[in-house]
Amino acid sequence: MLHVTTISRFQVLILLKQKPYYGYELIKHLENSLGKKISAGEIYPFLKSLKKAKLIEIKSSGARRKKQYVLTPEGKTQVNNLMKRLDGFMLQIITPNLTECVHCHCQLFGKVYKQKIKGKELPFCCSSCAKVYVGEK
Ligand SMILES: [Zn+2]
Repeated sequence: MLHVTTISRFQVLILLKQKPYYGYELIKHLENSLGKKISAGEIYPFLKSLKKAKLIEIKSSGARRKKQYVLTPEGKTQVNNLMKRLDGFMLQIITPNLTECVHCHCQLFGKVYKQKIKGKELPFCCSSCAKVYVGEK
């Protein structure tokens, strides 16, 4: 029996932040992104606990009264806070790997323009920063 992981719980919250979802839609999305089968029995207890915490509410619509899960304003705030915290966490991991443009001092992540100046390879954000830097020296 597979269990709903923290990651998929997080995904449920992110999905609900975008728009209201039906239970089966949520399960489909999770199955697609995780690449494995998920049973309703794994996801509904989590939705139930979210409802209990007043983070989501259930709306039923259509002839078959299918349940749609909607984030409450409180739920939205919680998800936003969670994402902000994660942002900080991600930055902590990434920051030591950041390079600084030696001319304009902007933080470079990923693509770095390198130019050899007086035998030393220096990092720049772009070729024009390198040009100005060389001109000043
Ligand atoms: Zn620069």
